[in-house]
Amino acid sequence: MDSIKHNLSLVHQSIADACTTHNCEKISVNLLCVSKTKPEDLIKQAYACGERHFGESYAVEASEKIQSLKAQGYNDIVWHFIGPIQKNKTKLIAANFDIVESVDRDIVAKRLNDQRPDELPALDVLVQVNISHEDQKSGCEESDIDDIISCINSLPKLRLRGFMGIATDTTDKALIESEFAHLKALFDKYKTKFDNFDILSMGMTHDLDLAIKHGSNEVRIGTAIFGAREYKNKVTMNEQKIAFIGGGNMATCIFESIVKSFDVKNITVSGPHLEKLEKFKAKGASITTDNVAAIKDAQVIFLGVKPQILTSVLQELSASGVNLSDKLFVSMAAGFKLSSISNLLKTHKLIRIMPNTPAKLGLGVIAVTYDTEVTDEQKTLCKTMLSHMGTCIEGDENNLNVIGAVCGCGPAFVYRFMEALITEAIRHGISEQDARKMVEQTVFGSVNMVIQNQDTTIAALREAVTSKGGTTFAGLTKMTEGNFEKIMENTIQASLDRTYEFEKMF
Ligand SMILES: *Cc1c(COP(=O)(O)O)cnc(C)c1O
Repeated sequence: MDSIKHNLSLVHQSIADACTTHNCEKISVNLLCVSKTKPEDLIKQAYACGERHFGESYAVEASEKIQSLKAQGYNDIVWHFIGPIQKNKTKLIAANFDIVESVDRDIVAKRLNDQRPDELPALDVLVQVNISHEDQKSGCEESDIDDIISCINSLPKLRLRGFMGIATDTTDKALIESEFAHLKALFDKYKTKFDNFDILSMGMTHDLDLAIKHGSNEVRIGTAIFGAREYKNKVTMNEQKIAFIGGGNMATCIFESIVKSFDVKNITVSGPHLEKLEKFKAKGASITTDNVAAIKDAQVIFLGVKPQILTSVLQELSASGVNLSDKLFVSMAAGFKLSSISNLLKTHKLIRIMPNTPAKLGLGVIAVTYDTEVTDEQKTLCKTMLSHMGTCIEGDENNLNVIGAVCGCGPAFVYRFMEALITEAIRHGISEQDARKMVEQTVFGSVNMVIQNQDTTIAALREAVTSKGGTTFAGLTKMTEGNFEKIMENTIQASLDRTYEFEKMF
């Protein structure tokens, strides 16, 4: 948390310094946090520091993050699309973004207009102008600006807001300055012609100061806030061969997460009944009934069979003659300890994971624990594979059991609580349908209050709803009398005790 906060304060300071140095204090410079390739978690940290403008360059990756964050209640982020636009991505961009800064040709403008969903307001757009004349950089030529602008202005679902430009990536300050100065002059010229033409987006981490000097009112900063970008190396990703033994519910959920960033052609799923594996085949994976064939060339093997069957599967693998020592095994069998697996497989490259059911929506908690020989690279690989399922919490094996009781069983406890609230609403005359809606929204709203107020304790949030002697107070008093905390203590203890009984069985 602290480093993002620290970085942001430095960036805000650089902006303020630049404004002072160049006598442009009167211009308010908007900070656009460029979060491309960065995980949701870092976006949430910047959000918690008060940032609301985020920039993304890859339509698919960005749309997943945007939808996931919206589902978690982050509804007031202004999402800027700043990357080159492929025609086949305009639909995703039109549906998910609030402003598109990289419009550089008519066809893109038309498609964004046609594909902007009716229920959303007009899409703000900037025209990206090619000021650097480096070949690969996108942006329209100056001579095309008039045509593109008249095209945008003829489209009802687009609203022209200004220009965006990227200067040459060079240490030659004079060149950078001349490019920014040129775009500023163009901006001033068009500003007089149109209403709402008020955004001049220029400046990145390395040229922020020069951009502000030349009149930028929006800087797009990535590296200085989130650190250097690590591009997922498609080659090594593609080289990862992955096997699943067992194709049940959790295996399916993990499979769905993996295929979002890995090549499905390298995945093999094995199980006793081929017809049950057809859904994996339909997505492009190989399927087989032969466990040994499935794992032979795989670097990562997910063990997704029931604990009762796992022993015999592990015996089969260990007797197969295949060298297992370089392979990473990831087990999702509950109650099956690392030591039980390593005894059978004779390797300590093992990871145990325990996802809870909301992982199906990408909103899960995944408890992760590592055996002694798992490398840092393999840890990262595993977390990348699970990244579309939710938040990973790492801990030792004992923690895993606790996380299992609290988060694995937790959804059922929460459902039970919701069922009880619904029953009471109905008892007092509310229709079943309304009762469900009411309770759903109450829980969703409360959870979001918790998420969006990280600096406030949950107790303080509770107290804010509770005035002494009031209605909530009367209700909570009954919970105390009914020994609610003791009930939860016994609930978690019972789940844990059962886990320990399972561990003894395998
Ligand atoms: C990535 C990107 C940025 C951020 O660059 P940093 O150097 O990381 O600050 C800004 N603008 C555009 C168009 C980008 O693609």
